[in-house]
Order: sequence, then structure tokens, then C-alpha cells
Amino acid sequence: GRSAALRARMEERLLGARFRYLNQQLYTGSSRDAARLFRADPAAFHLYHRGFERQVRRWPERPVQRIVRYLRRRPASLVVADFGCGDCTLAASVRNQVHCFDLVPLNPRVTVCDMAKVPLAAESVDVAVFCLALMGTNLQEILGEANRVLKLGGTLMVAEVASRFEDTRAFLKAMTHLGFRTVSKDLSSSYFYLLEFAKTGPARPGPAAGLRLRPCLYKRR
Ligand code: SAH
Repeated sequence: GRSAALRARMEERLLGARFRYLNQQLYTGSSRDAARLFRADPAAFHLYHRGFERQVRRWPERPVQRIVRYLRRRPASLVVADFGCGDCTLAASVRNQVHCFDLVPLNPRVTVCDMAKVPLAAESVDVAVFCLALMGTNLQEILGEANRVLKLGGTLMVAEVASRFEDTRAFLKAMTHLGFRTVSKDLSSSYFYLLEFAKTGPARPGPAAGLRLRPCLYKRR
């Protein structure tokens, strides 16, 4: 009846509010803070993911599908590391060996860890992927970890919400400091950018100026 409908609406609202709160915490703290948050409260993680799913369903295309298409055009022998893999859609959609990293296992394929420190040997993967996953404020450390595990000449794919980029040129310049050359950039979608880099060498020491992304905060609907 009416009270059930009201209750369902209230629950939706509450879910939305908690999602936005968690989301804000993830974008305004370090990756270590995120790890601590979800370790302390695994239920929060599941709630976050329900909210995330609802959010991306509104988009015309899921960015991970673009990465799937990209990998299908390249040899299946390439070894992939998926940083912040979520439900492992990428691993489930390609023939490549994919190492899946996330904070809490939504799927049995996930290796639970902070993406700033993944259990892979140096120069062991061909492709590193961050699909809507550059959330922590310690971006330099996180991308430095991707550099460490990538082979020389290996590929880094980044899909990020377009509105997070304050200065795309400055960001790409900072990436050269981190040992990444821009191979292609697709800025055509108003929802997300797709950037492809190649590893040119190890990350240089010292802060990479311009390596900044705005937090992705969702509005109340
Ligand atoms: N790549 C997936 C999921 C994107 S959501 C997709 O495109 O569908 C972002 C993911 O990054 C979430 O699953 C979140 O748990 C994960 N994440 C955030 N901070 C992390 C961290 N410090 N270490 C590992 N994973 C993290």
C-alpha cells in the first residue's frame, strides 16, 4: 500500500545520501584512508557499489566497455592489471590474464589491497587500467605504483569523469614526469575522458605539478 511505497522512497533517499557521503570520503582522502574505511565497514562498500551502479546506468556508455573494446583489438597474450576493478567486468569480458585489485571482494577474482601497493613484481604487466578508479588524493603514489609494475613500453589506460579535469594539459605534462607519454586521448565524450599512455621509464622523483583531479561529487537527485 501507500506506506510501503513511502518506506521504499525513504530507503532510496537514505541510500542516496549515504552513497554521496562515502563517495565524497573516497575522493577527499588518500587511498590508505579508503582502505581503512572499507576494512572497518564492509557493508559501506556494498552500499557504495549499489550507488555507483545506479550512477553509471544513467550514462550512455560504460567506460569499462571502451577498455574492453581496446583490449580485444590487441593480443590476448598481454597481461593486464585492473586497479579498482569493482565487479571485475573487465576480467570477465576479455581473454587476457587480468590481475584484479580492489579494497573489498565483490567477486572471487579480486585480490584485496590498496591500489597504491599491489602484490605484483616490478615490470610484470603489459597494460595497467584505472577505469573511474583514480579516487585517492595520493595520485602520484598510485600512478607511481602502476609505473613500477608496467614493463617498459607498456600501456596505461585511464578512463575518468570529464569534469574532474581542471587543466588537462597540465595533467598530461605531469604524467611525463611520472614516466608516461601520451599515446592517444579521447576527450569527445562529455561524460568521461579516455587516455592512453606508454611507459617511457621510471617515474622521476619530486612532486609532479599539475597532477590534480577534482573530486567527483554527485548531486542529490
Ligand atoms: N573499474 C570499475 C569500478 C569503478 S568504481 C568499473 O569501471 O566498473 C572505483 C573502484 O575503485 C571501486 O570498486 C573502489 O572500491 C575502488 N577503489 C577505490 N579506492 C581504492 C584503493 N585505494 N585501492 C583499491 N581499490 C580502490
